[in-house]
Amino acid sequence: AILVSRRVKSRRKWNRMVGVLGEFEEGCSTSIGRLRQVVDAMDVEMHAGLASEGGSKLKMLLTFIDNLPNGNEKGNYYALDLGGTNFRILRLQLGDERSMILRHDVEQPIPPALMTSTSEDLFDFIASSLEQFVEREANSSDLPLVKRRELGFTFSFPVKQTSVSSGILIKWTKGFSIEDMVGKDVAECLQQAMIKRGLDMRVAALRKDEALKFNLNLVKAIEEITIHVYVNDTVGTLALGHYHDEDTVAAVIIGTGTNACYVERTDAIIKCQGLLTNSGGMVVNMEWGNFWSSHLPRTSYDVDLDTDSPNPNDQARGFEKMISGMYLGDIVRRVILSMSHELDIFGDVASSLLVPFILRTPLMAVMHEDDSPDLREVARILKDTLKIPDVPLKVRKLIVKVCDVVTRRAARLAAAGIVGILKKIGRDGSSGIMSGRTKNGGESSGKMRRTVVAIEGGLYVRYSMFREYLNEAVAEILGEEIAPHVILRVSEDGSGIGAALLAASHSSPSVDSVS
Ligand code: BGC
Ligand code: MG
Repeated sequence: AILVSRRVKSRRKWNRMVGVLGEFEEGCSTSIGRLRQVVDAMDVEMHAGLASEGGSKLKMLLTFIDNLPNGNEKGNYYALDLGGTNFRILRLQLGDERSMILRHDVEQPIPPALMTSTSEDLFDFIASSLEQFVEREANSSDLPLVKRRELGFTFSFPVKQTSVSSGILIKWTKGFSIEDMVGKDVAECLQQAMIKRGLDMRVAALRKDEALKFNLNLVKAIEEITIHVYVNDTVGTLALGHYHDEDTVAAVIIGTGTNACYVERTDAIIKCQGLLTNSGGMVVNMEWGNFWSSHLPRTSYDVDLDTDSPNPNDQARGFEKMISGMYLGDIVRRVILSMSHELDIFGDVASSLLVPFILRTPLMAVMHEDDSPDLREVARILKDTLKIPDVPLKVRKLIVKVCDVVTRRAARLAAAGIVGILKKIGRDGSSGIMSGRTKNGGESSGKMRRTVVAIEGGLYVRYSMFREYLNEAVAEILGEEIAPHVILRVSEDGSGIGAALLAASHSSPSVDSVS
């Protein structure tokens, strides 16, 4: 009798644990109907963000980029790329053919201490890395000698730009928190750091009198460095996408953080009336990580994650917290923790499950994609990272399921976001392919225009389950007729390469960057 009741008890526990998972899965539902609501909400919020400053959670930031590289760029250009995790410097040698991009780059992780230090420390790190890069180049004999260096700087955070080469940091994301930097001009911070190191740098758009303020006479002037553009990483990605394929109209990043940008008609940017550009368009940085809609499938785990996050606030960066690499692993950890309350096997050894962010998203991806019959990788990660040994196979299977639910929701929401952009620019086919409408740049010939979206970021590029779910959902939302006209194209390393390309297309053509 004791044995039977024990069995009944453990069966009940098991059922409760499965119930925890079932409830979570239900909360994460991304039915096609719900995705369509998210598409519409994205479109509505985009309009609102363009209508007035603060009109939406979507900031819809101007970038002042009005022309994109098209393959005619030539010469040597550089990029500094500060992402959420890594800092990279690269040099591009642009030849006569598009395929002739020759690159040379150095990537290093951003020391975590710098993410919460001072702006001076962070920019000193950037300037000193650049200094080393320049020195190494000067000493290397197999590179052509470059006297003046023309740069694009990718800064992957929300910046309110005042020109193509200056702008103020609105806030930090992705775990960065450097109080003194918020509200400061990114260009000035870099400029000061470089001057301190004796690197003669000038920002293209900086006026002469401003340059004097920095007392450029005092500078040792090792080399001359000109920063032509400051861009968000999405904008770099769009630039590289457009360089390869001129039908590219938008770019999306799904990495540590997530965001999108696209080409908007200037007359649709109502909050900035009278904005004139040569092309009649401008790239808009949406900062979609901050998107919020009541249609988003939000669970109690998301609410808790938000409360414990460095930027807590109901809804703050709600979209990013459901989609990007910074957070997905931690959602999984929270669900496993909750399941562990129901099952003894986790026992008290599981205290590591209480440690926020202990389960990084790349590890979660490894568990999700473990195709060994006995889920060996899952067992290894549970043991090594979460310090839970000997988890039975049937429980390991549930854990894979948790990863699947989290990733599928993330990928499908990102897909809805992408279709939302297409809808805003009239490329989702919703107003009828045959309507002959030309207002939004749509075709009048009755044919849907080929539309390319450039994508980059570790989740999409290196996590094939994520990529498959996203691609599948975009096709599902667009439907059979429209989907073939929309191409999602990986724009690998676009954030950095694209910034160098933009430096090329924004430098004055008379300037020869090769000495
Ligand atoms: C930032 C964006 C950036 C994105 C992807 C977000 O957290 O706010 O500016 O584009 O991450 O790196
Ligand atoms: Mg990046």
